[in-house]
This record gives sequence, C-alpha cells and structure tokens, in this order.
Amino acid sequence: MSEFELIREYFFWQDIPGSVQVGVGDDGAVLRVPVNRELVVSVDTFNAGVHFPLETPPHAIGYKALAVNLSDLAAMGAEPAWFTLAISMPEADRQWVSCFTRGLRELAQQHGIFLIGGDTTRGPLSVSIQVMGWVEPGQALLRSGARHGDLICVSGTLGDAAAGLAIVQQRLQLSGGAAEHCVQRLNCPSPRLQLGASLRGRASACMDISDGLLADLGHILKASGVGAYLRHGALPLSPALQQLELAQRLDFALRGGDDYELLFTLPTDCLREVMESADNLGIRVTVIGVIDANQPGLSLDYTFHDERSGYEHFSQ
Ligand code: ADP
Ligand code: MG
Repeated sequence: MSEFELIREYFFWQDIPGSVQVGVGDDGAVLRVPVNRELVVSVDTFNAGVHFPLETPPHAIGYKALAVNLSDLAAMGAEPAWFTLAISMPEADRQWVSCFTRGLRELAQQHGIFLIGGDTTRGPLSVSIQVMGWVEPGQALLRSGARHGDLICVSGTLGDAAAGLAIVQQRLQLSGGAAEHCVQRLNCPSPRLQLGASLRGRASACMDISDGLLADLGHILKASGVGAYLRHGALPLSPALQQLELAQRLDFALRGGDDYELLFTLPTDCLREVMESADNLGIRVTVIGVIDANQPGLSLDYTFHDERSGYEHFSQ
C-alpha cells in the first residue's frame, strides 16, 4: 500500500466542516477562525514503548493519541475545531491503520474535531497530533490564576490509569471487573471538554492531569506563585482503587500519570454553580485542598517513603 493510497483511504475524511476551506490534499490547510475568537493550539507526541506499551491495541493508540490532545483543549476551556496528524510507522499495514483510524475517528466525531492534514512516514511507531480550537478573547483557562483561599478541585477519579498500567505490565492484580475498569481508563481516557467549557469565567486556574496530581499541581502553584494544602483523605478514588492498600492507592492517585482529569482552582463563591454544571454533565467534581499564598509549595498530610513526585521524561 503506497503512502498516497493510505492517506486517501484513511486520512482524507469526507464530511468536511464549513470552517475548512482547504483540508487534506494540498500543501497546507486553509482554515477559517470565527470572528472574535482566539486560536488555542497544542501538540503531543506518542512514542511506542515510551508513552504506551508496545502491545497496546491500534484502536486504543488512535483513540488515546487524540484524547490526550483534546484533554489539553479541555484544560484551556477551548472548543475543539481541527487537528493534524504526523504518523511514523514501520510498515503500511492496512489492518493496523484501519483499526487505528477507527479509534481516532470515533473520538473525533464525538467531539466535533476534524482532521485537516498531516504527514505520513516510515520509521518506529510514533504519533504526533496537533489540536486547534478556540475561545472567546481572554477566556482561556490558564495555570497562573490561582489565588489565596481558592479551592483545589479535580474531576472524576484519580490513579485508575496508573493502576491500569501496572496491570498491563503485570505488576498488579485486581479482580476481573476492577482490572478491566483500570485498563479501560489507561487506554481510553475521557477528555473533559464540556466540563472545561463550563469552567470558563469561573475557575481561576486549570490544567489536565497527565503526569500525576502532585507534579501537575506543582505547575499551577509555580505559575500562580502560591502554595497549597492537600488532604489525602479527600482524593476521589474508584471502587477498583479502594481495593488497594493505602500506600499503593495513594501512590497511584498522587503520582500516577495518564488520568487526564481536570485539576482546577475555584474562588469559593463559584463552587456551587460548578458543582451543578458538573452534576448535569454526570461528572464528579471533588474539592481536595485549598490554595495558601502565605506558605510556599505543597503541604500534604501524608508522607511518601521516597522522593519521586511524578513522571518526567529526562530525569529517569
Ligand atoms: P507534502 O509533500 O506537500 O508535505 P504529503 O505527501 O506529505 O505532502 O501529504 C499530502 C497531503 O496529505 C497533505 O495535504 C497532507 O496534509 C496530507 N497528509 C499526509 N499524511 C497525513 C496524515 N497522516 N493525516 C492527515 N493528512 C495527511
Ligand atoms: Mg509531508
């Protein structure tokens, strides 16, 4: 199968939205950003064996590569619009590409984001996706706005994906249903786009949790120039995680990556309306701590026995 056949068959999507003047097929895409909107752009690369285990099914690779990027748009409070896909693969295996595209497309259709171009090359399996979306001017949710007294909140539950990875790597065993839940959360995270949109004008700071709660909260604290108190007893844990011993479940929930839940800070008077919006979306939101501008860094009422805080690519 030639590169061009591959592109035509799998990456040239027909249902072209009105915002795309020129999509796949020319040297570049030509796009219409609505008037009075700011463009939000983010890119993430997914390398086999680094960002996902080699045995990950192709459907999950397609789904997750887009999900983690959509999660960045969610964290900015942006509406998804378009994405590009740069893919490198060892061979043009029709079955593999077909499953990969199914996963990709399933999620793309769910969130109304459209593939407008990319690059296809031969090499070790790697997938780079760049997403584009928009927000009203000045409305993007940043990491830098957390203020003294703001409540620290997270969506969903924490640590499931880290437990899922441990299960896939045969470092952990859980009973059937619980194991399946965790592996599903690892392979098919849910980007919280509607929740992110509902936080515009309400949350003082927001980001998505990709490297673990402690590491990622550290980014908000640094960008905002504040400290925080965190209560380990308040962390939202799934029934699957609750089966584990305290030290292990806290390790997954606080330092495990790949959750793609939203972490945000809220002035106390916004809590009620945010909880109501989240309820209507069927998403759990939990208050796990509070911002304190008078003390630097993060105070957690739990001590780990080692120093590690989260996943960093060049430090291990
Ligand atoms: P060029 O040599 O001009 O970069 P390419 O042969 O790389 O062109 O790509 C041809 C067209 O196919 C371009 O419009 C490009 O955006 C699109 N394309 C290539 N690979 C992909 C892909 N993986 N996903 C979506 N579009 C792609
Ligand atoms: Mg090219």
